[in-house]
Amino acid sequence: MLKVPYPDLDELLRTMGEVGRRLSDIDASEGAAGNVSICLRWPVDLRQRFPISEEIELPQPVPELAGATFLVSGSGCRLREIIDEPDATIGCIYVHQGGRTGELFTSLKRSFERVTSEFNSHLAVHYDQMLSSGTNFHALVHAQPPKLTYLSHIPQYKDEQYLNAHLLRWQPETIINLPKGIGFVPFQIPGSPELMKGTVESLRKHRIVIWAKHGVMARSDMSLKRAADRVEYAETAAKYEMLNLSAGEKGEGLTVEEIRSICMTFNIQQDIF
Ligand SMILES: [Zn+2]
Repeated sequence: MLKVPYPDLDELLRTMGEVGRRLSDIDASEGAAGNVSICLRWPVDLRQRFPISEEIELPQPVPELAGATFLVSGSGCRLREIIDEPDATIGCIYVHQGGRTGELFTSLKRSFERVTSEFNSHLAVHYDQMLSSGTNFHALVHAQPPKLTYLSHIPQYKDEQYLNAHLLRWQPETIINLPKGIGFVPFQIPGSPELMKGTVESLRKHRIVIWAKHGVMARSDMSLKRAADRVEYAETAAKYEMLNLSAGEKGEGLTVEEIRSICMTFNIQQDIF
């Protein structure tokens, strides 16, 4: 939930650019992989910067979000290029009354046909989170960090308890930043209703979820950067885990007692350790 003064459109676009560049810097968005979106409930003037508009059907009806605005990366756009060309790479959707359709606002510089093909998952998670928490702001990022994604190919890590007990043991701040741990959705076809459904359910509990053999999605109701930070924390944990696997599992990791002491000290509620 954000308080006034709300970030304006230019500031939000700049944040999307900075996040896109960071995800690219950590190798989590090769080529045109990955996508970002923001949902906000305060009025924004879209027409000045994005003068072209067309009506589009939304992937699912979201009647309670009538009047909300989505800023979404375009299909095939490179996250690393948002920073230099936000007008070419971002589309803005204003949700109409009834929530079945929206107005897609784009710039004359628009370089994409449609918004990201994962918009069904983005919309469904925004809808679920905004309704359950009543927040006026929600941000999502889908990225493809290689170490987390590689671990999702190893059968043991499909088990959320095993996954979290192994990944959250390498640095004290991991449990502080991800107290609900990392969720896991078994492999589903990208853009499918099954992936959307699994993601919505997992992100009710977790702030970040692994899409098996594909990547991750992370959320925040404070800023897109915080959502991207979660990708970075989880990917760093996976990096330690892979270092340990390649070193013949010589690492001790933080012990259960050590992690519990950290949680006591910083007042962290968690049920992993
Ligand atoms: Zn992807």
